[in-house]
Amino acid sequence: MNDMQQHVLIVGGGIVGLATAWRLSEAHPEVSITVLEKEAEVAAHQTGHNSGVIHSGIYYQPGSLRATNCREGYLALIDFCNEHGIEYDLCGKVIVATREWERPQLDKIIDHGRQNGLVGIRRISADEVREREPHVAAVDGILVPQTGIIDYAEVTRTYARLVRAKGHRLRFGFEVSGVEETKSGWVIRSAAGDEINGQVLINCAGLYSDRIATMTGQDLKGIQILPFRGEYYELRREKEYLVNNLIYPVPNPAFPFLGVHYTRMIHGGIEAGPSAVLAFAREGYDRSQVNWSELWETIRHPGFRKLASRQWKFGLNELRRSYSKRAFVTALQHLIPEVGMDDLMRGGAGVRAMACDPRGNLVDDFLILEKPGAVNVVNAPSPAATASLAIGKTIAEVAEKHLEAV
Ligand SMILES: Cc1cc2nc3c(=O)[nH]c(=O)nc-3n(C[C@H](O)[C@H](O)[C@H](O)COP(=O)(O)OP(=O)(O)OC[C@H]3O[C@@H](n4cnc5c(N)ncnc54)[C@H](O)[C@@H]3O)c2cc1C
Repeated sequence: MNDMQQHVLIVGGGIVGLATAWRLSEAHPEVSITVLEKEAEVAAHQTGHNSGVIHSGIYYQPGSLRATNCREGYLALIDFCNEHGIEYDLCGKVIVATREWERPQLDKIIDHGRQNGLVGIRRISADEVREREPHVAAVDGILVPQTGIIDYAEVTRTYARLVRAKGHRLRFGFEVSGVEETKSGWVIRSAAGDEINGQVLINCAGLYSDRIATMTGQDLKGIQILPFRGEYYELRREKEYLVNNLIYPVPNPAFPFLGVHYTRMIHGGIEAGPSAVLAFAREGYDRSQVNWSELWETIRHPGFRKLASRQWKFGLNELRRSYSKRAFVTALQHLIPEVGMDDLMRGGAGVRAMACDPRGNLVDDFLILEKPGAVNVVNAPSPAATASLAIGKTIAEVAEKHLEAV
């Protein structure tokens, strides 16, 4: 880096931070970039603990950033994988109504899908559902041919390799603990006492994005990240014949979660999940993990208290499913009645970063806030992995304005 070169600091080595670095490096070869990551590798949190599904964009509110970035990101991801030899499989998925009263919800989903520009999606009868997934109990369904599976950690490692190949840096073990605004930009300090300077700061810190945003002096208007753990079970190998590809229930429209589903994994095996239970630590992958100060921060948040008072039944139900395998299996049996307790083993978990406003609403869309010299990605929920190249491009374009201003 020479003295005149502008330096961009990206906090967070997940898929969003690295897609942003990659897009920025392509658009602005003259800029130098450093990605700061507290762990020893990329994709250590949400990106490396997700369902590995390439979402089609069928569910999202037409016109929302999630809908537009999902469609654009989907196409860019497929091109990127073809170019860089990353394995994926567009195996398609079925969304199935298992009860009569779920049918109108299917109409709504397919309508959103069409408005979002999906071609080839269609209603399928219970018989056609069974032709594709013979063990599913359905009264009606939707076929989404373009949904696929992939390993997002591998995608992120590829972004990282390309970014490095252009001469940019990734600093691992750099836990951002302080941010100071100076006349010429920012000084970022690590928990270990290291310092680094830059003109523009881009915050892609996932579960800690609200904290980093606050360090930059961004007014979050009371928004805070709430951590929701998604727990998975795995189908035993000898029962994998029960699932061919991806089987989803009709989601409850009141929540931003898709409901526990069956997912064939790109490297083999079938997962069932994820649930959506409040985690007692932002990186609480296990229900026994409690970080008291983070839990207190959650409980104190006015939005959380409002959300909890409105949705306590949902919350308790999810908590029950976390402790009781039987309750989890019962939910899965709605889709495949012959799945039994012994057919499933506990699997891994991921923690979703969900931004919640002070009125108790979970922020539905991607949320990028700005202040001079800083771009804060405060909400990047699913399908941000699918959409990474589109959202990375959007973030890089926002950052561009700040580069021009300094
Ligand atoms: C259970 C689950 C299932 C999902 N399924 C899918 C799916 O199938 N398809 C899909 O498209 N999306 C899915 N998602 C969503 C998707 O995984 C996320 O939207 C995406 O990974 C977000 O990426 P990110 O880079 O913003 O966050 P992360 O991957 O969490 O990256 C943030 C990074 O910031 C780092 N960091 C945090 N604080 C600091 C600090 N102080 N200093 C330095 N570094 C810091 C962290 O260590 C981390 O590496 C799922 C998510 C979960 C949790």
